[in-house]
Formats: sequence, structure tokens, C-alpha cells
Amino acid sequence: MTFAASDPLSNPTFLESLPVAIYTCDKDGYITSFNQAAKNLWGREPEIGKDRFVGWWKAFQSDGSPITPETSPMSRALRERVPSSGEEIIIETPAGDKRIVLPYASPLFDAEGKLSGGANTLLDITDQKSGESKQALLAAIIESSDDVIISKTLKGIITSWNRSAEKLFGYKEEEVLGKHISILIPPDRLAEEDLIIGKVSCGQSLDHFETIRVTKTGEPKQISLTVSPVKDKHGKIIGASKIARDITKQKLAEEQLQRYANSLKILNTIGRAISEDLDVQGILQKVTDATTKLTGAQFGAFFYNTVNEQGEALMLYTLSGAPREAFEKFGMPRNTAVFHATFSGQGIVRVDDITKDERYGKSAPHYGMPKGHLPVVSYLAVPVFSKDGTVIGGLFFGHQDAGIFTEEHEHLVNGVAAQAAVALDNAKLYEEIKVLNSKKDEFIGMASHELKTPVTSINGYLQILERSVPDEDRNKSYIVKARQQVGKLSTLISDLLDVSKIQTGKLPFNYVQFDLVTTLKEVVDVMRQSNSSHTINLNLDPDELIIVADQQRIEQVVINLISNAVKYAPGSEVVNVYAGIKGRTAKVSVQDFGIGIEKDQQDRIFSRFYRVESLASHMSGLGIGLYISHEIIARHNGKLWVASKPGEGSTFTFEIPVEQPSNI
Ligand code: ADP
Repeated sequence: MTFAASDPLSNPTFLESLPVAIYTCDKDGYITSFNQAAKNLWGREPEIGKDRFVGWWKAFQSDGSPITPETSPMSRALRERVPSSGEEIIIETPAGDKRIVLPYASPLFDAEGKLSGGANTLLDITDQKSGESKQALLAAIIESSDDVIISKTLKGIITSWNRSAEKLFGYKEEEVLGKHISILIPPDRLAEEDLIIGKVSCGQSLDHFETIRVTKTGEPKQISLTVSPVKDKHGKIIGASKIARDITKQKLAEEQLQRYANSLKILNTIGRAISEDLDVQGILQKVTDATTKLTGAQFGAFFYNTVNEQGEALMLYTLSGAPREAFEKFGMPRNTAVFHATFSGQGIVRVDDITKDERYGKSAPHYGMPKGHLPVVSYLAVPVFSKDGTVIGGLFFGHQDAGIFTEEHEHLVNGVAAQAAVALDNAKLYEEIKVLNSKKDEFIGMASHELKTPVTSINGYLQILERSVPDEDRNKSYIVKARQQVGKLSTLISDLLDVSKIQTGKLPFNYVQFDLVTTLKEVVDVMRQSNSSHTINLNLDPDELIIVADQQRIEQVVINLISNAVKYAPGSEVVNVYAGIKGRTAKVSVQDFGIGIEKDQQDRIFSRFYRVESLASHMSGLGIGLYISHEIIARHNGKLWVASKPGEGSTFTFEIPVEQPSNI
């Protein structure tokens, strides 16, 4: 500390140790002494005998207007000879640090009462001020927060209550201060409070705890609660603060979303499941099960809209949620006043309590629900319409409690019913097609059988005629041609008969042992005679290939493959036939250099009546040769396949075991 020689405050240790800034001036205002705290506050050291009234660098009134040394409290005290009471000013250091200060400047007088100088104490209240404003800010935040903020003692006594708490729970602050927090807790959740206080007492917090609290009017509110311990300045836990957020709406939205997601999932599954199903019973069972689940019904049923000899009656078809016996003992339900609306296609019927409905209890013989019937109070019935507008049937749902079914359920069931109707129409069509198909198969079988006898006798007569007519007769060639055509016709009829026999599982096989090489040579010879347009090469690996198979059927396959190779290779000249053996498997290939087959058609050409679309119009054929060949090879435990490139040609290959397991 620096002192002027005549300074009255001559105890340096005392002043130096003061935590408060203090300095003195002579009667003209020149600074005569100052302590360390003053130096710290000013951030500078004044020059003795030069700085007047003040040691600071800059100072301002609390409204921001600057204070000059002449307008400073010290100047005023010396001028007016009265102490200045501490009015808040702001002192700025050369480094820019600002402090809030209360100056207490007093004039000093000597023994004769003459002004000898002045002393000024500068009280730094910056920290205290910021604490106060922080608290005021916090209080304002709490008060205006959208969240409910409550504090309570460790005994659960409410000590503060903000505006949002008032809004959510309906109690005014004065109504709840001093009351126990349990006024907000539903009786079945009172134990929660012990748990919360237990945690808080150990210094732990509870984060986003979802629970229910009740308002002044008893309305339950879903809230998310965060509870934290409140400590005093010594760190002792003295209570708890609770921040609660009303999540009732959020929860409702979540529940609704969950419900929608579930419904969507069920709808999706049901949509896919029924569109894949072509069985009426299967479709209806799936629809009944899914809609019963969707509506939360205790049981659901689908009734067909059928009419029996006695008049109108409904047929129970599928049931979900209850055993069939629960309904069967009552006989067929009649088209009562309640049911009528659905089956006459008037629309959906949804009733919160069907027993109070005016249509209820009017119809014989039961006049209401038969005794022992599953109790139905909530009732929902949705008609299922066919594409042509007729009512196929209805979906019915029941629940023993009232008011279970909502408009949302109506929409959901209606959506499923519409999908079901399409699936049912499809299933019906499929059934009809199946019936027609089997009729067609029956017809092909019968017609080919009926045709075979006259064609065989025509062939016989032509043979006799051919033999009886001398070679030089010019009519002989006509007879030969007629016989060739009848031969073709006979092959066609045989093929058709084979198809029919395959369908009924009655294609006979006669396994014998023979040499495949000899057979191939004979077949190729015959084919060469009737197909002069192509050179048919035969490449045989072994000289002999003894197999056990149906010789005629294997011949039939080879003839069919070579005929196709010639027929579908009009521009080329060569057909190659290979035969070989690989282990215990015989392998035969027929290769052509014709039009080839697109990849996506290659599997399909083995199906019944299938022909490649682009060829069907200008190349004759019935699309059954490969189907029969495939079946013959499969029945020999072998396989037939094609490798082909459009424009380059095709190779059909079959493999069969040299011995047939059942015939060894
Ligand atoms: P079809 O020859 O009487 O039509 P197939 O069952 O023998 O009946 O053959 C089915 C279909 O496969 C034919 O319509 C044709 O489109 C195709 N196909 C069969 N063989 C060949 C081949 N060698 N080259 C190209 N396409 C062929």
C-alpha cells in the first residue's frame, strides 16, 4: 500500500488486509492512498498527487451514462461536505472488465472541523447481483414453462407449484402448497411415491417415468415424469423437483398408430393370402379369422346367402372364435328382421346393443337369441357382394359387451369383404374352369376313342384296295396317298388318346429288353424315307445298347423329336441324332439347326397343348407331342430337356436308366 506522509490512516497492515477497496484524497481531491483491493478493482494504479477524486479508468451510472472525476461521488462529498450514500455505479478496468460497485465517499475533517480530505469505500456487489438476477430468471422460466414443475419435501409435501401444474391438474397454488403429493396419485399407484422418494433420497433421479396422475376433477392424465433431488448449499438432499409432461394425446396417437399398423399388417396378410387361395372354404376361413381379430369380436362368422325349400335360410360356413357346436344346435338361422338388412344388400349394420334394437326379438321361432346362444350385445354385420351385385353372404361379429364396434371396424371389415368378394369370384371361376377342363378331357378321350375304330377300318379297306389294284393302274397312287393321310390321322388320334390316358393315369407301359441302337437305326430309316428334305445323320457311340424299356413308347419319343427337328428347321438340311451310354444311363439327342426356342419358352413347351405363340398360326400341330414324350421319359425314371438358341437351332436330349427298377 502506498501512503502520503501526512495520511491519517496510518496503519498500513489493517487497510491492506481489508477485502474492500478503499482510498483517500486530500481536500483538493488528489489521491493520497489506496489499498490493494482498490488497485484490483480499478485494474490500474493511480499516480499520487496527480489522479484526482477517482482511481478508476472509466465509470458509468447504472443507466450507462459516463461519470467523470468531477461528477464522481468523491468529488461530490468534498464539494458538498456530506457523505454520499452508496448508489450503484459500474467501473470498467483498462482490460474491459466491468464490476458493479456501491461507493461510500465521506469528507474527513481535522480537529478544528476544517475539511482535511476524503475517504471512499467501494463495495463490489457484482457476484451478489448476478446471483439475484439468475434467481429471478429461473423463477420466470419455471413460471412460464409449458412443463409442469413442482417441488416437494422428502416427506412429499408440495412446496412449489407452477402455472402449468395449475393448468394440468386444476388446483391453484394456494390450494396445494403444504398438501401431500398423493392428492395427484391414483390409489392403485400410491406405492410409486415410496419408490420415487426412495430413489431421490439416495440422490438418484428418475427419468421419463410414464405414469398416470389424476386432476382435481378426477380425470386421469398420462404423464412423463422426471424427478430429481433438490440439495441445499451444503449438498444435503432436502426435497425433490418434479417435471411432468402431459402425454395423454401423444399416448392416444401412439395407440392409434399402433392400431393402424396392426390393422394394416392384418389387411396386408389377408389380402395376399386370399388372393393366392383358390379354395372357397380356405378364403372364407382366413377372412373370418382376420376380421374377427381386426374388430376385437368374441366371435365372427360368415353366412352364405342360400335359399332352401322352406324359403329363406342362411348357411353357416365359417366360424372364428367359437366352436361350431356353439351354433349348430340351433339349426340354420333364418332370415330374420335383424339378418335381413345384410342379406338384402341394404348395407352394414352396426349396433351398440342389438338387444335394444327395434328389429330384435320380432322373428319366430326364437324371438331373439335362442336360449343357450353365445351372448351377443355388440353386433356388426357386413354384406359381401359379388361382382354382379348379388349378395354372396355376410360377415357377422358379436361381443357380449355393448359398444365394442366402431366406424373404423366397419371400414376395415368392408375393405376385407371387398377383397374377399374378388377372391371368391376368382375361386368360383376357377372351380368352373376346373369342371370345364375335366369335361374337355372327357370329350377328347371319348372323341378320340370313337374316331379310332372308323379310321382303323378305313385303313384296313384301303390296304385291301391297294393290294387289289395293279401297280400300273393310274388310281393306285391316289390310294397310296389316301393311306398316308389316314396314317397321319391315326397317329393324331393315338396321340390324343395318349393325352387322355395320361390325364386319367391310365397310360399303359410294357417293359421289354431290346437293343436301342437297332431301334434307332430302324426309326431313322423310316424317317429318312418320309422326310427327303433333310439329311438325318445317326451317330452311335456303342454298337449295341441293351435297355429295358417300353420299345414302342421310346420309338414314339424319337419319332416325335425327329419330326419336330425337321418341322421347325425348314431352312436347314441336317438333323443329327446321337446315342451313347454314360454309366448305367442311356442318352439320346436330336439336334437341328432351325428356328430355336426363346429361353422363357423352353420349359413351357413340355406342357399340354402348349405351342410357341409366334408359330402357332403357320405351323401345324396340336402341342401334345412333347407333353407325351416328357411323360413317357418321366415314367421311365429319366428326363427330357432342351438346349436351344433362337435362330441357331435346338437339341432335345433324353436320358433313361438302362434298367427299370421295377422290372429287373
Ligand atoms: P407341336 O409340334 O404339335 O406344336 P410339340 O409338343 O411337339 O407340339 O411341340 C410343342 C412346341 O414346342 C411346338 O409348337 C414348337 O413351338 C416347339 N418346338 C418343339 N420342337 C421344336 C424344335 N425342334 N425347334 C423349335 N421349336 C420346337
